Amino acid sequence: MPITGKTKITGLFGWPVEHTLSPYMQNSAFVHCGLDYCYIPFPVRPNRLESAIEAIRSLSLSGVNLTIPHKEAAMPFLDEADEEALAIGAVNTITNTNGILNGHNTDGRGFATAIQEQGIILEGCRALIIGAGGASRAIGYYLSRSAKSLHIYNRTYEKAVALASFLSRISGNTDVVQDLSSLSEYDIIINATSLGLKEDDPLPLDVNLLLPFQAVCDLIYRKTPLLMKAEQKGCRTTDGLAMLLWQGAYAFELWTGMHPPIEVMRTALLSIVK
Ligand code: NAP
Repeated sequence: MPITGKTKITGLFGWPVEHTLSPYMQNSAFVHCGLDYCYIPFPVRPNRLESAIEAIRSLSLSGVNLTIPHKEAAMPFLDEADEEALAIGAVNTITNTNGILNGHNTDGRGFATAIQEQGIILEGCRALIIGAGGASRAIGYYLSRSAKSLHIYNRTYEKAVALASFLSRISGNTDVVQDLSSLSEYDIIINATSLGLKEDDPLPLDVNLLLPFQAVCDLIYRKTPLLMKAEQKGCRTTDGLAMLLWQGAYAFELWTGMHPPIEVMRTALLSIVK
């Protein structure tokens, strides 16, 4: 669809943004729905975030996504934030309603929908998150409310303690673990570290300890060595592409008020990662 004087602009603020997959899925969704919208990646330097957020108002952008390193830093520059974004302390989506900027966080909901789509049941599960960064915080917020128990493991132990302590305030079922020697007690195991992004990365856990009843999830956008080995052990697996899809679908809904065309967005993503 050609850009016109009426085209509504959305996009992504990040640093860097070169590798983003979001324009493919969002622009495909806009075209499919016949919406005069477009989605543009904006490389926003960390020290320019405040002026970039002000530009959402001055340029009348309809909304943006935020990615590393802006998700937490954006909070003070917004007019409002929904309950989830306030609880997590980070936003990945901003909506602009007549100059009022509202922050949302669709990462946790996106993750939950992605794994439920695979038939993995969160309600009453025993879950382990490996990692204690921003993504762990967002998915931990969701998991802690549905899981029977939620354990956090992280290379830097103090960060795992801090995250577990934060999540315990939402639900008392969260604790920290110091090692990964007892994987058999978990129904769902999630790699939320960046291990697996590089080809020579070590695995985040000992795959010999995995059991066929378990679900193994990786937030990285492709089938990582961890997921391949987990499948060989008979585990169900989910990669981060489905989470990317659903967090983007919820952002689409916030900007347009329309039901997102999930299969169109999924096909767009798969066409560029395969
Ligand atoms: P982050 O805040 O920078 O956290 C990174 C985490 O990875 C920390 O827990 C860190 O541990 C751990 N880590 C990094 N290198 C490690 C290593 N060599 N060994 C062990 N642990 C290591 O990043 P994030 O935003 O949470 O993102 C984490 C992952 O999720 C990334 O791969 C990202 O691409 C992915 N992600 C996916 C989606 C999606 O939609 N699918 C959304 C967000 C993020 P320390 O605390 O010890 O440094």
